[in-house]
Amino acid sequence: MSQWRIGDVTITKIVEQEVSGGSRSLLPRGTPDWLAPHLLEGDACLRLSIHSFIVETPAKRIIVDTCLGNDKQHRPVGYWNHRQGRFLADLAAAGFPAQSIDTVVNTHLHIDHVGWNTVLRDGAWVPTFPQARYLISGSEFEYWRDNATREDSREMLADSVAPVVEAGLADLVQTDHRICDEVTLVPTPGHTPGHLSVRIVSCGQEALITGDFMHHPCQVAHPGFELTSDSDPPRGTRTRWEMFDRLADRAVLVLITHFAGATAGRIVRDGDFYRFET
Ligand SMILES: [Zn+2]
Repeated sequence: MSQWRIGDVTITKIVEQEVSGGSRSLLPRGTPDWLAPHLLEGDACLRLSIHSFIVETPAKRIIVDTCLGNDKQHRPVGYWNHRQGRFLADLAAAGFPAQSIDTVVNTHLHIDHVGWNTVLRDGAWVPTFPQARYLISGSEFEYWRDNATREDSREMLADSVAPVVEAGLADLVQTDHRICDEVTLVPTPGHTPGHLSVRIVSCGQEALITGDFMHHPCQVAHPGFELTSDSDPPRGTRTRWEMFDRLADRAVLVLITHFAGATAGRIVRDGDFYRFET
């Protein structure tokens, strides 16, 4: 189990899946010499991780992103359907039973970030974390409500977002919302319109949970490497330049949502570009 300490705050990674899951077409400019051998399997797949971060402050117990979930259907990747994984058991075994979570943060409304918002019980989708407020960016919610043209997006809203809204557990927040003394949301648009990251500051130490404004270490050296699933690729590139610039100036621990293996590190300047140091 990977765990980090930022002042009075503890951050724990709970992995749902670490596989060669992303098609290389996701990152068309990430050439094999950048990716092999650790981050590319065969020549078709990126190695990506899907995990949640649990952020424990003196007052809050927050889960950031909720992975794929079990029993979901109509997902675009075959093995994301009808999953029967042990994520909730792993969460409980790590000391975080679902009942104990008081805040859920979805960095954005993509299928691999909202799945465990809900579980299937007696044929109905119900909130997994009944004691929690679910924080969703208002602009992100409105975007998907009005633009979910693909079947998988409509299914995602229906099975993983609408049930928490209908249960009265969702708070549509600004992307710079403050959760508690130590934890604040940070707008990082581009991958999706209302995308957000999570900043943790305690006792002079700082960490940032990125969400998906970056997916792969090659984007640190090449902020212009866009992901085909970015909703606004130029905005995504600008966000990376702006964030790397800010992160490189301070000793911020950067916790990344899809890096396989090395999840945590620091962004350092390397001439006009940047490097990710673990
Ligand atoms: Zn993602």
